[in-house]
Amino acid sequence: MRKSKCTSERKNRIVRNKTLSKVENSTHTRTRLSKTFPYLKTCQHCGRKFKTHFHTQKYCSAECYANAIRNPKKQCEYCHIEFQPAHRHTKYCSVECYHLAIRTRR
Ligand SMILES: [Zn+2]
Ligand SMILES: [Zn+2]
Repeated sequence: MRKSKCTSERKNRIVRNKTLSKVENSTHTRTRLSKTFPYLKTCQHCGRKFKTHFHTQKYCSAECYANAIRNPKKQCEYCHIEFQPAHRHTKYCSVECYHLAIRTRR
């Protein structure tokens, strides 16, 4: 018995030769981006102040950005204060709230 498996697919790639439109090299464009950062922002994760070119930037570093995404701010289920949880599953802003919530739950 012969098993003939033909899984290889042929993909014909059409290579397009795009004629690149000539980019005009003007020597005076770089003066627009100055080295001074126009925006002074406060990092929404660590609260540090930082300077940036982008007014939409919220975090001072990629680290803070990743942490903020991983651990978004939560509202304490007991006192309803907004806080930054250390872990994703943290429900309360402090140990006190945690104990109080457990005690008053029943
Ligand atoms: Zn930060
Ligand atoms: Zn709380």
